[in-house]
Amino acid sequence: MWKKKRIMLLVSCMLLFTFLMACKAENVETGQEGGLNNGKIATEKFADRQKSEIGDSDKVESGSGNARNQMNSEAEVKIKKLEEASVKEAKSKQTEEASAKEAKSKQTEEASVKDTKSKQTKQASGKGDKTKETKEIADNGAKTKQAKEASAKETKSKQTKEASGKGDKTKETKEAAAYIDKTNKTQKDKVMNVANVKDKTNFYGIEFTEDSEIFARIKGKSYKDNCTVPVCDLRYLHVLHIGFDGETHEGEIVCHKLIAEDLLEIFEELYNAKYPIEKIKLVDEYNADDEASMAANNSSSFNFRFISYTKKISKHGYGLAMDINTLYNPYVKTVNGQLSIEPANAAEYVDRSKDFPHKIDENDLAYKLFVSHGFEWGGAWKNSKDYQHFEVPDSVVKKLSY
Ligand SMILES: [Zn+2]
Repeated sequence: MWKKKRIMLLVSCMLLFTFLMACKAENVETGQEGGLNNGKIATEKFADRQKSEIGDSDKVESGSGNARNQMNSEAEVKIKKLEEASVKEAKSKQTEEASAKEAKSKQTEEASVKDTKSKQTKQASGKGDKTKETKEIADNGAKTKQAKEASAKETKSKQTKEASGKGDKTKETKEAAAYIDKTNKTQKDKVMNVANVKDKTNFYGIEFTEDSEIFARIKGKSYKDNCTVPVCDLRYLHVLHIGFDGETHEGEIVCHKLIAEDLLEIFEELYNAKYPIEKIKLVDEYNADDEASMAANNSSSFNFRFISYTKKISKHGYGLAMDINTLYNPYVKTVNGQLSIEPANAAEYVDRSKDFPHKIDENDLAYKLFVSHGFEWGGAWKNSKDYQHFEVPDSVVKKLSY
């Protein structure tokens, strides 16, 4: 009987062991099947079921006493360990997941930061470009402005110069007008230092220089290469006269400055008296050929030359003599017993007893005017008669140094 009890106890123990082993295997399988998320829940269910079975076992194996308690204690420890392991595993997993999340989050943040930085950098670069562009635009603008200002300055300068040029011309014109006006009011001081002004309606005289248009007309002709009279001592006169056609004509005279005012006064009075003078042209228009000029009945003054067969300068050579209506008032003299008539075509006007138009005698207005201005008449000479000729006394010529 005793032996039989022992065998039964041994069998019970074996059965219990086998059961426990099976439970352990089932626990492992259940944990694997439950997955990571359900690990803990599966372990708790298993523990409850195991407790329940053990309790039943207690009912069944009421007779095993301490052994069962010990086994229950060991099972509880195992269960607890399993639970702890499961919890640890879950925690570990959670930690890993959290860590992974954190890492991802960090990476995301870093990426975000990088992205942001990159964006900022790009924006900054864009701003830089824009800034550069802005500067370039500003520079271009500044350059354009400078260019405009420079252009404006240049334009103003040009305008100023032009205005100045106009001003000069205006000044000359005004001076000429003032001179002309003065000439009309008073017969004094008619010759002024105004160059190259020609007023076609009045009497005036001007000084001229070697680079003037006037000088170009007389150079090499009346103003010959051996001329000793300074250009600055000559004057160009503009006068009006009544021609043989009864019309008003312009006259041009080059004379010495010493008689310029006198000639202007005389010719103005002759003009006002409608004294007929056919031509008052520069002898240069006849190539400074006296014979040609006289033959054409031209009235003139300056023509540089020496008195024939002498080194004495003719008074025409100084511009200190004036010839009037030369054809009708020839220069008549006897040379070697032969009558010389200049111009040669004036023979019929040699006989001064005859009455003919344009004859100059002591009753002639021109004679009276020239004499009244201190001129000497060639028609009064004793050895020769130069009826067209009026000149200053020798005393005036002697005052000149040439
Ligand atoms: Zn003469």
